This record gives sequence, structure tokens and C-alpha cells, in this order.
Amino acid sequence: MPSSSLAFSSPLDVIGPDDDFVHLDYAASAPCVRAAAEAVQDLLPRYGSVHRGTGVRSQASTLAYELARDVVAEFVGARPGDSVIFTRNTTDALNLLARALPAGTTTVQFEGEHHANLLPWPNPLRLPAPASPDDAIAALKQALDGRVGPVVFTVTGASNVTGEVWPVRELADVAHSYGARVVVDAAQLAPHVPVDLDDLGADYLAFSGHKLYAPFGAGVLVGRSDWLDAAEPYLAGGGASAAVGDRPGELTWATGPARHEGGTPNLLGAVALAAVCEALTQAGRVARHEHEQRLLARLRSGLAGVPGAIEVSLFGPDHPRVGIVSLALPGHDPAEVAQRLGREHGIGVRAGQFCAHPLVRRLTDSDRTGACGDGVTGLLRISFGLGSTENDVDRAVGALAAVLGTDR
Ligand code: PLP
Repeated sequence: MPSSSLAFSSPLDVIGPDDDFVHLDYAASAPCVRAAAEAVQDLLPRYGSVHRGTGVRSQASTLAYELARDVVAEFVGARPGDSVIFTRNTTDALNLLARALPAGTTTVQFEGEHHANLLPWPNPLRLPAPASPDDAIAALKQALDGRVGPVVFTVTGASNVTGEVWPVRELADVAHSYGARVVVDAAQLAPHVPVDLDDLGADYLAFSGHKLYAPFGAGVLVGRSDWLDAAEPYLAGGGASAAVGDRPGELTWATGPARHEGGTPNLLGAVALAAVCEALTQAGRVARHEHEQRLLARLRSGLAGVPGAIEVSLFGPDHPRVGIVSLALPGHDPAEVAQRLGREHGIGVRAGQFCAHPLVRRLTDSDRTGACGDGVTGLLRISFGLGSTENDVDRAVGALAAVLGTDR
């Protein structure tokens, strides 16, 4: 039976062709798991429009969509009254929230963020990337002290560049003690560890389906509803409007999640995303996390023996991280190295700055890499998750050593 069929034993089995290619670019987009594929396959022959029709297909689709919302709410421990809004991805979710902030809100973030959590925010106060969790806490305290008016602090759960897990709960406690609200970009955290709003101390949480083993096109924003309910709709149009009069401006916007989900929603995306959330919740995550951490240790110790590859980190080598490692390759062009890994060794990784330019600049400065600025233009990133094996990791290490050893 080819492994691209849907005949698998676990809902969290990754689907894919039975070939020799090693995918180690999960941080960009993770492969689809069986739970998501089956949810889509199940719905394809019978879907209809959501929230719009009276027919059987439409009714069933509306039910499936709202059920998906409930599943996601449970996955993140949404509190009574929290909004669960389906979006296109994390970028979309954070932009939505950024537009819903009360006028005059100050937003605070570290330069360690992905652009999706750096660029959408109004009135940004951008703090330098900290050198340790203690530095981060001290810098946040200093930034929030004496500030008046609404403040929102936004932080990633895990870095898409270094894989390091940020001290979200500690930072959230500081932010809350100054009356600020906290947004957690869980795009890289949710695929690896449980994400719970209360445990993280988050007022809002966002993540993407395509990094969580579901197909593209669906993400989610979950969090406190007061600002979201008071804001102008993110997308004006059908679904977001409850009543429209004859004259421009004569209208009543919808309430609840529909207010920000204008247009026909992405039913298949939402259902696939929810199917993975459910599978992850039911399967328990401890054993998978331990397996991932073993792979991570194996990868890092293998890479430590590759001459010319320097692992980068903000918080130091012993800080907890998820299955993401980035390397500075002084004297080599990471893009060329990544091309050769794919072409010559069948290993898919990513090179560049990973939509985190300020952070990558900081990580590749001479003090951190010892590279003395000799042409370090970006990094090479290896990332993995469900379905990754020791063989994948060993092949990547061996291939990188071979490529660097023959790169002029
Ligand atoms: N936040 C982080 C930490 C990410 O790694 C990414 C994507 O790589 C995003 C946000 C944006 O995710 P998306 O492209 O799905 O909107």
C-alpha cells in the first residue's frame, strides 16, 4: 500500500509519497497528517455554503464549521466569552487584532519576532532582542513602567529562527501587572507543545493550520471579545453585516465571530485544522514531545561536529527549544548550500532570513557567530516534527558536512 493513500494506523501519521526525499522545513509548512486529510476527504462530496442556505448540505456545513470552532476553542482552553475567529493564517489573525485595538493603544514587542508579529502593530515600541529571559523581563518592565493608555504586549511562543521557547508566562505576568494585554504568536509553539491561554497568560493567541499539519488557508485568532466586538469588521461584506439600508453607511454590523469573517468562510480549512487539534488533544503529546526532543539533541550534537556550521541562539545553547535549528555558515552562501542539499542529497531545508530580518541581523552579528561579518547574509534552518526520524536527522547532518566540505 503506497503511503500516500489514507490507510494509516494513527490520525497523526504524516501523509506523503513513498520516496527518498527528506522534508526538514516544517517551520515553513508542515506536512499534512491523516486526521486532516480524512476530514477534508469526508467533507468534499457533501459540502455547501456555511451560514447561508437551508439545504441539507448547507446545514451540515454550518454545523461542521461551528463544531470546528468549538474544537479549536477547547484546544487552546478558550474562556467563556472568548472569541474564536477563523482567519487565513497567523499573519491574518495578528493583522485582524492589530486593527481592532482601541485608538491610541501602544504596542510593545521585541525585535525577535517574525515579521507577522512585528509589522501589523500600531504605535510600536520595539525592544532590542534580549540576551536572556531575565533581560527580556527587565526590558519589558522598563518599557511598561509609567505608560498610560491601553498597552498590548505581543510575543512569540517559540522563535521561527532559533526554535527557542520564549518565557511567555513570565513576560505575560509582568505585562499584566502593568495592566497591558498579552498576545501570543503561537505559530511555532502550537505544532510542538500544548497551548493553553491561561497557562501562557495570553489574552489572545494566533496560529496557522499549515504549520499544524493541516492544509493551507486556515488560521485562528482566539481571545478576549470586548475590543473585537467593538471594532469595525476586518473585512466589510456579506457575513460581516447584519442589516444594510438603502443609503451608504446605513448598516448594522454582525456580532460575534461573523463580524470579522466577512465573505464565504474556508470550511475545509477550518475543519481540517480542527481535526488536527482534536487528534493532538486525544493522542496526548508527551511521548511525541520526548521523541522530538531526542531528535533535536541528536541533530544538534551531529551539527556540532560539522566544521563551519555554527548554531545560533538568543538565550544560549541550554535554553529549551522546539524542533528548529538555524546555522550560520561563515564563508558559505546559505542559499547555495540549501540548493545543494536539495539537489544532491534530497534534503529540503530553508535558507535566508525567515521573515525575521531584525532578529537574523542580530544573530549573525560578529559577536555571536565569531564570523566577523565575512559575508554572513542569512542562515540555514533545519526544522522537523511529526513523522521525522533519526534517519532524517542523520542524513541531514551527513549531507551538510559533505556540502560544506566541498563548497568553495
Ligand atoms: N509567526 C511565526 C513565529 C512564524 O514562524 C510565522 C511563519 O513562519 C508566522 C508568524 C506567519 O505565519 P503565516 O505565514 O502562516 O501567516
